[in-house]
Amino acid sequence: MQIADNKIVLIHYTLSNLDDEVMDSSVGAEPLAYLHGTGNIVPGLEKALAGKKAGDQVKVEVSPEEGYGELNPELIQEVERAAFDGVDDIEVGMRFMAQTSWGQQPVVVTAVTEENVIVDGNHPLADQTLKFDVEVVEVRDATAEEMEHGHAHGDGGHQH
Ligand SMILES: [Zn+2]
Repeated sequence: MQIADNKIVLIHYTLSNLDDEVMDSSVGAEPLAYLHGTGNIVPGLEKALAGKKAGDQVKVEVSPEEGYGELNPELIQEVERAAFDGVDDIEVGMRFMAQTSWGQQPVVVTAVTEENVIVDGNHPLADQTLKFDVEVVEVRDATAEEMEHGHAHGDGGHQH
């Protein structure tokens, strides 16, 4: 069975950056299950997997536009320290949920000055070329319920 829209696909993947540092991997854990054609995974990887079948190995480089997007400078903001009322020590690398015009957004602290805190709401992998090394483990038809929900159920997928 080939990978196409409305198929559930199980993959083992390793994601590296251009310096060959591993950013994420399913190897040694359960394979990831996703519903093909619905944007469950980044567009560049979804495109590369179309037409593949169980047992196939796929190596692909995904540009930021087809990955987690370009860096959006508007998501990097300077916030007054006073806005972090109740947090005693604000340090670089701390993560918060921030209320923005787009709604709740996870942000990471990238700099701290006496008066202000710089937070960045971009995806950690934004602006990066992603190298995926993927093995297709299984391809099956999605159930009616999975298509309705827009994601895979069971092992490696949503458990509910
Ligand atoms: Zn569901």
